[in-house]
Amino acid sequence: MKPGSLLERFSKLQIWSSKGQRAPHKPLLVLWGIGRCLRGEDRLVSYREADRELTNLLSSFGPHRKVVHTEAPFWRLQNDGVWEIRDANQVTVGPGGNAHKSSLLQQDIHAGFPKAIDAILRDNEELAERVARSLVDAHFPSTLHEEILRAVGIGSRFVQSRRMYRDSRFRDAVLAAYGYRCAVCEFAVRLNEEPVALDAAHIKWHGARGPDHVRNGLALCALHHRLFDKGAFTLSQRRSVVVAKSASGRGFDESLGRFDSRPLSLPEKDADAPDPRFSKWHAREVFSSPL
Ligand SMILES: [Zn+2]
Repeated sequence: MKPGSLLERFSKLQIWSSKGQRAPHKPLLVLWGIGRCLRGEDRLVSYREADRELTNLLSSFGPHRKVVHTEAPFWRLQNDGVWEIRDANQVTVGPGGNAHKSSLLQQDIHAGFPKAIDAILRDNEELAERVARSLVDAHFPSTLHEEILRAVGIGSRFVQSRRMYRDSRFRDAVLAAYGYRCAVCEFAVRLNEEPVALDAAHIKWHGARGPDHVRNGLALCALHHRLFDKGAFTLSQRRSVVVAKSASGRGFDESLGRFDSRPLSLPEKDADAPDPRFSKWHAREVFSSPL
């Protein structure tokens, strides 16, 4: 298999989607698998172990859900031609085409990348990193890339992703609309007249088909951008700040807690303010406490 076709195959993962719900399960499973290859671990891994690791990754980087289903991506990834399940015929499959979790556990089912793909990833570290980078690019905002890669054990040799350089027009439009200050804390430091540590955040993520439109943007300082993408706060329908109940720790009050329930500093033009469709998505798919 050629490197190009390997990249392409991983870029075409079938992602379950319904009404804009976020399903980062398969990308996280693949990223974790690539991390395992790079660490020289066995090709096949038990569902029991994958379940534990993927559950952790989903609780850090997935949407807030009462129940986490790891059996679906573990089973369905084989349909994408990048995953092989040993003794798949022993697994009980429900009418919807999903494997039963109990069956995966009882039969001690193991899976991994098929031999040909596994060998390429192990032999070509740079290619493995490119696949990983394209997956985080496609499915997560840039503020989370490094953290996700670290969590799956893929080194920090990563250069910044291309996405960071991409939407300069989006950035300009959003920062201008918000008067070059953070919508939460009004941070507006300039260095040689240029704003520093001020970002244009997507409310509905680019990887979830959020548009590069000012109504899907928020000007946020670097800290609030990261906290927003991680779900430590969201926007209410009245465009005020809603802080996650699970957030705490030193610095919490000064940096975030004191803004709870406060209105955002919005653009002068109402037509540039966040569209509730996008903030609803963020509250449902990213915010780490249910509204
Ligand atoms: Zn701020």
